[in-house]
Amino acid sequence: VSDAPIASWLNGSLLAAMASKALYVAVVRYVVIAVPGFVLAYGVFARTLWQRRIQQLPVSSRQAAREFLCSLSSCVVFAAIDIGVIVASVAGVMRVRVLDPSPGVLELAGSVVGLLMLHDAYFYWSHRFMHWEPVYRVVHEMHHRSLNPTPLAAFAFHPLEAVIQYGFVPLVALAVPIHVLSLFVFGIVMTALNAYGHSGIELMPAGFVRNRLGRVLLTACHHDLHHSAVRYNYGFYSSLWDRLMGTNHPHYEEIFARVAARAAAVRAQPAA
Ligand SMILES: [Zn+2]
Ligand SMILES: [Zn+2]
Repeated sequence: VSDAPIASWLNGSLLAAMASKALYVAVVRYVVIAVPGFVLAYGVFARTLWQRRIQQLPVSSRQAAREFLCSLSSCVVFAAIDIGVIVASVAGVMRVRVLDPSPGVLELAGSVVGLLMLHDAYFYWSHRFMHWEPVYRVVHEMHHRSLNPTPLAAFAFHPLEAVIQYGFVPLVALAVPIHVLSLFVFGIVMTALNAYGHSGIELMPAGFVRNRLGRVLLTACHHDLHHSAVRYNYGFYSSLWDRLMGTNHPHYEEIFARVAARAAAVRAQPAA
């Protein structure tokens, strides 16, 4: 009796189990970060955070629902890519270390920082590509329907944009023998920074953009300006590429200072 049917059934169920896990990871990391972020910022603490709201425009439930559903559909695309990367790595085509023991804390932290730096460059250039008119109309315009984004817009992409955005993972998996846990942690950090970048609320203290760290690291105000002004601020983690390529919004620091000053002025008022 041939073992082939059993082996193929086993492979099939293994793939099904892996697919459900990948989908679970992609959906849960978005939902547990973006949804509480939205509920806290636009519900529970909406009044307290009003002065920190960058654009101070109302957000309709229609917009929130669109951003949420669109982001969920991107999570399905991300999960499909994750499954492909894991299968290809187990088959030896890609280089993710799926079965190796967990890396040490230093390797983990170093690899996540390295991934964020690589992703910074990938994000900037793929984003510039998606702003090329013929590509923009089909692929990226959907993301720009949120003129005043909320945390729910973190992954509000057209499916093609989701493929381009997450294309970073298979590219890394082809080139670098990275541990699957590093990719997992990177995914969580990337999701959290996306939710903050799209929050529409500036949480950084006044003066942040003038200190050394703030000159390099980007704020919610920076990406919010990309959504409202479109032609500037293509970077996401650092201002390195925007400054190098002359695409940083010319009034970014001023606008950031205005929002931060508004929040500080309310804090300084004596309680009634
Ligand atoms: Zn854009
Ligand atoms: Zn955006």
